[in-house]
Amino acid sequence: MTNQKKKILVCGAGGFIGGHLVKRLKEEGFWVRGCDLKHNEFSVSPADEFIIGDLTDPLVAQNVVIGIDEIYQLAADMGGAGYIFTGFHDAAVMHNSAMINLNVLEQANRAGVKKIFYSSSACIYPEYNQLDPENPNCSEASAYPAAPDSEYGWEKLFSERLYLSYYRNYGIQVRIARFHNVFGEEGTWTGGKEKAPAAVCRKIAEAENGGSIEIWGDGKQTRSFLYISECLDGVRKLMDSDFTGPVNIGSEEMISINNLAHLVMEIAGKNVTINNIPGPQGVRGRRSDNNLIGEKLGWKPTLTLREGIKHTYTWIQKQVAETIREEILV
Ligand code: NAD
Repeated sequence: MTNQKKKILVCGAGGFIGGHLVKRLKEEGFWVRGCDLKHNEFSVSPADEFIIGDLTDPLVAQNVVIGIDEIYQLAADMGGAGYIFTGFHDAAVMHNSAMINLNVLEQANRAGVKKIFYSSSACIYPEYNQLDPENPNCSEASAYPAAPDSEYGWEKLFSERLYLSYYRNYGIQVRIARFHNVFGEEGTWTGGKEKAPAAVCRKIAEAENGGSIEIWGDGKQTRSFLYISECLDGVRKLMDSDFTGPVNIGSEEMISINNLAHLVMEIAGKNVTINNIPGPQGVRGRRSDNNLIGEKLGWKPTLTLREGIKHTYTWIQKQVAETIREEILV
């Protein structure tokens, strides 16, 4: 079947990765239906159809899968550390995301959908392997014995198993990726659900040269961050392969959060003092391990963190400037 004929459903199409994915799939010539609770905040979706609906409702899931060949399931109740690690949203995160996956997968299987992609997360990896910020272990095989450090991670692990069970028992093709901190333009940058790269870019964009910013924790916690276009390359490659996964899609370029702030300062041309304050921060160290994806798909990211952050900072700086302009006008 040519791309033009294939009908694709993107669940979570109003979100950050889903929004970019719809654009990519349209560029590749697919017919695309998006579904989300909301439209994209920052651009108009090029989807052929966009259904506003709540996928925790089985009837919504039943309707959106009609006539669809392949699904990318990205809808989830999620956010950055300020949302996931405070504990205040645990019940909602587990209930909403599990319901979405139960409904979408069941209805997809009943409707005869051929293949479904599921976006899991690096948050499934056990905390005990991520205590040393310089030497975390996030190889796919290290997921068990399971000990994620958040309920968000536990739900992702449950849902990975749900997708694999449907594949084993019903034969529906599944592709599972564990994303590691994806960032870029049109990602949430304010409001409490933003993740570290966007939060740091916003704080530095808002700060005066010579001023100060706050960073949660001692700033020595490490992460690796993947630029959005690279994430989409990995997702498309996985979807078109015959490899089920789960497999990491991330970068191996690790950086501490304080050094991320220094990198953003360099790009912004600002010198800002970092105040490390108590706050939710997750595991001490995390980095994608790309051995398996290299072996199975011959894929690795090519863009440096600096290049990705440059694009992202430029975009966030513009959002900050526009917000200030609007506040002055009100
Ligand atoms: P996002 O929050 O921007 O997108 C998720 C979308 O799901 C949102 O637009 C939201 O409105 C939608 N949604 C939530 N509940 C819904 C419901 N009941 N019905 C319909 N839509 C609903 O997040 P994102 O960064 O684009 O992440 C996409 C997927 O990738 C998520 O499953 C997330 O857990 C996973 N992931 C992301 C990252 C990352 O760094 N961004 C890392 C690991 C995993």
